[in-house]
Amino acid sequence: MKNKVKLANYVDKLPPVIHSRLEKVRKESKHWHPIWTSDTSYEKFEVHGYLANHVVDLGKHLCTCQFRMLTGIPCVHACAALARVNKNPEDFCHKLVTMESYRETYRHHINPIPGQTFWEVSESLKP
Ligand SMILES: [Zn+2]
Repeated sequence: MKNKVKLANYVDKLPPVIHSRLEKVRKESKHWHPIWTSDTSYEKFEVHGYLANHVVDLGKHLCTCQFRMLTGIPCVHACAALARVNKNPEDFCHKLVTMESYRETYRHHINPIPGQTFWEVSESLKP
């Protein structure tokens, strides 16, 4: 309920927790170097790092590290590639972690109930 009130005036696309998580990933992504594979849609990258390389396909929202499958936000490698093509990582988050579905969760209200002294006495046997 408190969350519902707090979020009523919140305009960001991602909930605060997800937002800061993504910010952290975005910072880390600066240590990775995306190399475009020359595909026509400008979506496939080989992303080189200190110990490993990964393959990112922005079109399919896939990376060989599979991080996004678990968390719903782009991994460091995808963020590196997205920075390269000037796209916003927020647009590459799964729908489930966006404010849209968060709002959907809090859309329904809970019916208020008076204290027990005001409850109607039932004629049925007590359990
Ligand atoms: Zn990755």
